[in-house]
Amino acid sequence: MNYQQYYPIDVVNGVGTRCTLFVSGCEHFCAGCHNSSTWDPSKGHPYTEETEEQIIRDLGDTRVVRDGLSLSGGDPLFPNNLDSVLKLVKRVKTTYPDKDIWLWTGYTLEGLSDKQQQVVEFVDTLIDGKYEADKRDLTLAWRGSSNQRLINLTELRDEENYDL
Ligand code: SF4
Repeated sequence: MNYQQYYPIDVVNGVGTRCTLFVSGCEHFCAGCHNSSTWDPSKGHPYTEETEEQIIRDLGDTRVVRDGLSLSGGDPLFPNNLDSVLKLVKRVKTTYPDKDIWLWTGYTLEGLSDKQQQVVEFVDTLIDGKYEADKRDLTLAWRGSSNQRLINLTELRDEENYDL
């Protein structure tokens, strides 16, 4: 996996103070996408063991408490990204069970592959769906068009009969 940007302290991508990773690779090609430079999975910086270590360290930084990790892009659920992202989200939840994980994807929750679902099982808040320019809505928090959903998976999991 490659990534475009890593922000060790971020207050605009999710609730609270966060670490945010923008990965490379997206196959949705939404018209009007503001991040088209992230589409090519070969662009950006190599995501290495050291990158993962850095994120884990930053999340544990007691000088500036982070509420959690945000994963965006590009698409963290792009097929080539799944191994690295799954390893990361598992490690974050094992190391810091009280920190939350937000993930932005162009796929819809209902359309996820088995492997994408494995990642999402560790995610607390999912923003799903492609950006659709004709549904652009600047009043929405953390998403650009009204077809995109902000799904609180933690709440959903607590509901009876929920089976992702
Ligand atoms: S899913 Fe996101 S990054 Fe990918 S094309 Fe659509 S808006 Fe751009």
